[in-house]
Amino acid sequence: MNEFELIDHFFKRSTSHPLIKLGVGDDCAIIDVPADQELVFSMDTLVADVHFFADGPAKLIAERALRVCLSDLAAMGAEPLCFTMSLSLPHINEDWLQNFSEGLFAVANEFSCALVGGDTVKGPLVITLQVHGLVPKAGALRRSGATVGDLVAVSGHLGSGAAGLAVLKNKLRGSERFPDFFRNSYFRPSPKITLGVLLRDYASAAIDISDGLLADLGHICRASHCGARLKLESLPIAPPIQQLVGEAQAMQWALCGGDDYQLCFTVSPDQVSALQDKLSAHGEEISLIGQITEGEGISCCLHGETYPFQHDGYRHF
Ligand code: ADP
Ligand code: MG
Repeated sequence: MNEFELIDHFFKRSTSHPLIKLGVGDDCAIIDVPADQELVFSMDTLVADVHFFADGPAKLIAERALRVCLSDLAAMGAEPLCFTMSLSLPHINEDWLQNFSEGLFAVANEFSCALVGGDTVKGPLVITLQVHGLVPKAGALRRSGATVGDLVAVSGHLGSGAAGLAVLKNKLRGSERFPDFFRNSYFRPSPKITLGVLLRDYASAAIDISDGLLADLGHICRASHCGARLKLESLPIAPPIQQLVGEAQAMQWALCGGDDYQLCFTVSPDQVSALQDKLSAHGEEISLIGQITEGEGISCCLHGETYPFQHDGYRHF
């Protein structure tokens, strides 16, 4: 199988989306952007054995890669449209590619995001995805809109990504009682696309939690020139984690663990009940965990007392 057969077989799929004028197969893809919308795009590069285990299941490697990339669209309140993918492969392994392609298109179909092009080269195993989405003009959520007094909220549960990674590294005893929970937490995070779209009318700032709550809320604070105070008793921790580890470890994962891909956002107190009504009608769960303050930095309290924590998220360098 040569490079072109590989692309045709594993990555060329027809799409009927009215805005996608041309997909895989020509020198470029062609996308129509409606006059009242803006194109929003983001790129993620995943290097084998740095960002994923190269010997892991190819289907789940692909699923996770696209889910994580889509999470950036969710953070902006964008709806997915299409994506491109650069694949650097050490050799052509058809079984691996078949599984990879199945995982990739399962997520692409779930989120209506078509693969419209890419690049395929020989080299160390590296996956680069660029997702493209649409928002109404000037409607995107940003990190920079939080103001003093806004409430800080997060979706879903925190700490599950880090707990899932600990399980993969055989570092969490008792996890076999919840096998799907931890595996899915790590490999199949849910990009919060629906929530992001709903938040466009309510949130003053938003980010997705990829590096840990403290690091990512820290980005909102710096971009918005403010600080934040968190009430740690309000952090949403998933029941399996509560059952397997103590409060200190659960807090550490929730605050600093990363890989959760939930949304952290800020909302004015007078908008919050309207937002909560809207979200419960759509089955989206959020927790209010603190407030935006003057000054800079994030302070954490547990039952009224200052809480110490160790570091502020994953750094590559
Ligand atoms: P060119 O040499 O003009 O850059 P390529 O031979 O690299 O074109 O790619 C041929 C077609 O296949 C293009 O439409 C390109 O976008 C698509 N393509 C290449 N690699 C991938 C991939 N990994 N996933 C999806 N589409 C791909
Ligand atoms: Mg060309």
